[in-house]
Amino acid sequence: MLSFVYQSLPGRVVFGEGALAKLLEEVERLGAKRALVLSTPPQRGDADKVSAMLGARSAGVYAQAVMHVPIETARAAVAEAKRLGADCAVTIGGGSTTGLGKAIALESSIPIVAIPTTYAGSEMTPIYGVTEAGLKKTGRDPRVLPRTVIYDPLLTLGLPAQLTATSGMNAIAHAVEGLYAQDANPITSLMAEEGIRALAMGLPRAVVKPDDVAARADCLYGAWLCGAVLGAVGMALHHKLCHTLGGSFNLPHAETHTIVLPHAVAYNRAAAPEAMARVQRALAAGDAATALYDLAARLGAPMALQQIGMRADDLERAADTATRSPYPNPRPIERAAIRQLLEDAFHGRRPRPFQ
Ligand code: NAD
Repeated sequence: MLSFVYQSLPGRVVFGEGALAKLLEEVERLGAKRALVLSTPPQRGDADKVSAMLGARSAGVYAQAVMHVPIETARAAVAEAKRLGADCAVTIGGGSTTGLGKAIALESSIPIVAIPTTYAGSEMTPIYGVTEAGLKKTGRDPRVLPRTVIYDPLLTLGLPAQLTATSGMNAIAHAVEGLYAQDANPITSLMAEEGIRALAMGLPRAVVKPDDVAARADCLYGAWLCGAVLGAVGMALHHKLCHTLGGSFNLPHAETHTIVLPHAVAYNRAAAPEAMARVQRALAAGDAATALYDLAARLGAPMALQQIGMRADDLERAADTATRSPYPNPRPIERAAIRQLLEDAFHGRRPRPFQ
């Protein structure tokens, strides 16, 4: 029988080609007078443009965001926001930049206007992460959920093909796990299926023709939906594996998600038939695990953990860490099967089709 709890998250989304032009209006809407613009060093040019658009409402640019939000970077950004008297953070970039905005919001409670330029989805979640002494601490806090998100596909035309592929698969992973989450509900499942469908439509076109605005819009629309799923329900084995591999072995975020996803799905498929049926419908395919593997391969993504810096010697330790304090998962966590899963992902083997 149908039984669920659904908790919606607040937030305003402004989506469309050229939506960035609404930025000043959106910042004014929040009543902010001094917005600090954040980016990574390579996206400084975009941040400067955004700052110019804000005119007198810009407090300046802080272009020091880096992967995994090191505590030192977070502290320096908080101090800069305080020094400049910022009453709002505008983030332009991927999950690393959004993450830095969240670190500031956690300390100061100022609102975030997020302008995502990848498909990671952090802008739709109240989840933050800060890395201290090599350990990433994550938590949930409503203060870090961006108040306004501006999605403009024109800002993603320069996303390199490889990051397009892996970031898109990262987004799909949120939706897949959202479908078999312990706290899944009818609304997030609708969003998850539609998100996967939109990304599967958009990604192959965006990889071949990065300036295809319609394809980019499909991808960003899918990323929004998948990010909203990530923000609303709990994640399972796949995300636990990726956190383990990223945290303990410093493997790159989006690539790790891309490689692990088909194997995590193969592990769970017999235990989550309804979720698999929805993934298959979204991908117009007969088996979710092989279809996800084939999609990633078609996008030209890396397919094996050994390609992205994992060492064979570390597989045992990875299996130990991944099976310790597991997240809720449709299939119980069995160490031998997880060790095999990691081995398959290490070599980039295509999952066997489901019998
Ligand atoms: P990223 O933000 O680290 O970006 C990777 C690189 O791509 C950066 O150099 C960035 O400047 C560049 N880039 C971004 N957009 C670009 C564009 N349109 N054109 C050209 N270059 C561009 O990568 P990511 O995958 O978006 O984010 C990963 C991080 O986000 C991880 O630390 C992950 O843990 C975190 N994350 C957090 C959540 C959450 O809910 N808290 C969700 C997803 C990801």
